[in-house]
Parts: sequence; structure tokens; C-alpha cells
Amino acid sequence: MNFKQATYLYLSRDFYSKLSIKPFDNANVIQWNFALTKELEIPEGFGEDILSFLKGKQSEYFKHVFAQAYAGHQFGHFTMLGDGRTAVLGEWVGNQEAYEIQLKGSGPTPYSRRGDGKATLRAMLREYLISEAMHGLGISTSRSLAIYDSGEKIQRNALEDGAILVRLMKSHLRVGTFEYARYFLDHRALVQLFDFCVDRFYPEVKQEENPVLSFISRVAEKQFDLIAHWMRVGFIHGVMNTDNTAISGETFDYGPCAFMNRYDPMTVYSSIDSQGRYAFGNQPNCIQWNLVRLTEALLPLIATDEKKAISLATSLIESFEGRWKSSYYAMMLEKIGLSTQNTEGIALVDNLVTLMKQHGADYILTFAGLCHPVEPSLTPWEKLDFKAWKARWLQLSDKETTSIANRLKQMQSKNPLFIPRNEWVEKLIDSTTKEHSFSAFHEAAKIFANPFILPKDPSLFIPSSESWEDSYKTYCGT
Ligand code: AMP
Ligand code: MG
Repeated sequence: MNFKQATYLYLSRDFYSKLSIKPFDNANVIQWNFALTKELEIPEGFGEDILSFLKGKQSEYFKHVFAQAYAGHQFGHFTMLGDGRTAVLGEWVGNQEAYEIQLKGSGPTPYSRRGDGKATLRAMLREYLISEAMHGLGISTSRSLAIYDSGEKIQRNALEDGAILVRLMKSHLRVGTFEYARYFLDHRALVQLFDFCVDRFYPEVKQEENPVLSFISRVAEKQFDLIAHWMRVGFIHGVMNTDNTAISGETFDYGPCAFMNRYDPMTVYSSIDSQGRYAFGNQPNCIQWNLVRLTEALLPLIATDEKKAISLATSLIESFEGRWKSSYYAMMLEKIGLSTQNTEGIALVDNLVTLMKQHGADYILTFAGLCHPVEPSLTPWEKLDFKAWKARWLQLSDKETTSIANRLKQMQSKNPLFIPRNEWVEKLIDSTTKEHSFSAFHEAAKIFANPFILPKDPSLFIPSSESWEDSYKTYCGT
């Protein structure tokens, strides 16, 4: 087996707490990701190993299970956190990369504070579906390997079925891990964490003039690219705290996330985000804010002289906005099949989103209507304003040097035909949990693996109804 203890354990003991999991006597597997196990060559028997471990049997593999320590800025406020309901089992070494394997909802840890360390079946079904849909959409994300019924009821607003998700990530290291080392540990710990991270993810920065600045710059690049992808598909993470921003550039922590239907940059679903801090259109600001927190945490390593470190850090931070804009417009231009050389393209992108906002147009169907065979009545393209925009777009398209066929192909690969619509997903989860029957869920998980081809089920196209969307709320820690 290509399974070993996590390399994270090379870090000093301050960075984690060893765990023993309280057994779940009645646990059972309810969802297994065959596509992922094939991709990573994980033997199916591995699911049985996890199940026996959950039931409390001694395991030859899972001997070094732990919870990570980290801090983080939550809605702007700094606090000590740590894995409150997750446990890292170890690492799977695939043919290209290593993945940390983590249980979510497996019980309390030393960092649980007042939480029970558990997760509801509803929330884990949702995380599984959305994370795998994100992968299908071509976006870097934590993967969901399996869901186990925990065999117990847990208390939320009412008693609910509990579940345990098996999640894979290249690394769970986050901006908050650096904040923890800087503000709760000492200089040596910060150096150790930095060296570990560089060796693991960005070894090339060691050759650079200032490896710390280069490292932050690489993380920024990955994060800008990631957020541009989120904006490509109307994804709202919902809780972009620094503890939920991965150094590896993977999307993770699917709690209050949701997909926007009608375009409005102020769209928020999270029940606790009353100020709209993490609204769709604020995500670029939030990621820059988080990257500034990473830079601050690493300040003592940038230069020994503090003034010099601040000056170097400031120049780097000042480059963020311009770099974000490049990532964003490159992505949006790809969505409309224009190249970055097309100088009027940027204004055209801005015009389109303004129109979408004015008309409350559906985000996905607007773009899909430009390049996929979508029923025109589902899109806004018959409206006069949109027709005028399209005429301008066609004029600019004529200036492109690549063939129409190639540009169309590129647009089709950036603009999905369907996404997990909030109403659709909630109804699926309602019926799955009510009947405790998982076949429709298994099917759905497969469908979202390819959102760029026409689905058999036409309901997948349909945006959530307006009245339903207006009262829809999402939650953390469920
Ligand atoms: P999040 O906002 O989901 O990133 O969670 C913030 C913190 O709360 C993390 O440290 C989580 O591990 C912890 N947490 C969330 N839900 C629970 C729970 N039910 N029990 C214990 N800790 C939790
Ligand atoms: Mg989190």
C-alpha cells in the first residue's frame, strides 16, 4: 500500500495533537468515490480498513492520527483554532502527488472548544457533492473519497443523522498555520514551518534572491488563479477566513458555500455573514486581505532588519491588486473567447457583468448561451441590450487570430452547462436523508463529474426559483 504517516508530523509537537478516535460501533459506508480511487490507485479494500478503524479495531495503517494546531482571522478577528472536528489519518502517495487523508466529523479533539467534533449527514452529503462538482468544473479542490454513516444521532437544531467524510488534500496547511507559528510559537517554529512548506510545495524558491517573498508570491499566484476560477463558475466560498485559505491553492472547507444564480456581486448565503464580507464580488478583496496576513506572519523571515522587511513586504503587497486584475480578466476573456491582446475586451467584460446585474441574468446560462446549445428562452440573449453587446462582441471576435472553432472549444471548456443549483441540491439532500436511500445521490455525484456536456436531466439547467433563493441560508459547523 502506498500509505504512510503524514509528512506533516516532521514538524515539532507544537503543531499537532495526537488523537485516538472514539469508536463508532454502527458505522457504515454510504458513498464511495470509485473514480477517485481509480485515479489515485487506491485499492477498494482501503474503504474497509477505514471502516474497521472507525469501529475501533486496531489498524496497521492508522497509527499516527492527529489534529492540526492553527490560528486564524475569522471575520477579521484573530483567534486560536485548530482541527476541531477533523483527524489526519496519514498520506496516500499517488503516482504524481501525495495526498493527506483526513476524517471530518470523527469526534472531538483538543481544539474542539465547545463543539462536539461531529458532522451531520446533510452537511457531508453537500460537501461531497459540491467538492466533487468543483473538481468536475476544473477547479483545484479538496476531494471527497467517501462518506460513512456514523450510526449515531447528533444534536443541531433538531436531532440529525451523523456522518463522517473522508477528505483528501495535497496539504491542509493554511495561512492560519503561519499565523499560529508566528503569534503562538517562536522564531524557530516559524522557520521550521516555512522550510517544511517550501520543501514540500515550492522547492524552486530556494534558488531565488529572497525565498520568503518568492514563496508568498507563489501562494498569491495560486490563490488569484483559484479565485478567478471561483468567479468563472459563480462560486461563493462563504467563509474565507485565513484558516480556510490553503497554502497549496486548493479550495476547502465547504460549509456555507453556494453557487450564485442571478448575477449580483453582493450575493451572500451564509447565515452569519450579515455584512456581506464574503459576498461573491468581495472574494478578490478577501483573498488579498488574507495574503497580507500571511505576509505579516512571515515578516521576521523576509529580512532581519524590520524596516527593510516592511519595505520589501509593502512592495509585494502593492503588487497584489494588479496581479489579481490580470488573473481575473485573463479568465473572463477566456470565457468570452477573446485573447488578452484584444485591448477592448476588458471593457466588454465589464459591460457584460453590468448588464447581467441590471437584468438579474443567470450567471451560468448567460455564458453557456454564448457557446453551448442552450434553449434561447433560458438565456438573456434575446433581450435588446444583450443583442447590442453581442454585436460588439462579434466585431471584436473578428480581430482574433485563432480560428472560430478553437475559440468556441476554449469557451465551451470554461463555461459549464450546469452547476449544483442550490435548490436542486437541497431537494436531493432532503429526499436522500428522509428516505435514507442513496441511489439518487450516487447518480448525482457522477453527473456533476462532467458539467460541460448536455445532461440527460433537464432540471439541472434550471436556476433555483427567485423566491426560494431569496430565503436560502447556509451554515457553518453543521
Ligand atoms: P470553519 O469556520 O468551518 O472553518 O470552522 C472554524 C473552526 O471551528 C475550526 O477550528 C473547526 O474545526 C471548528 N469546528 C466547526 N464545527 C465544529 C464542531 N461541530 N465541533 C468542533 N469544532 C468545530
Ligand atoms: Mg475551517
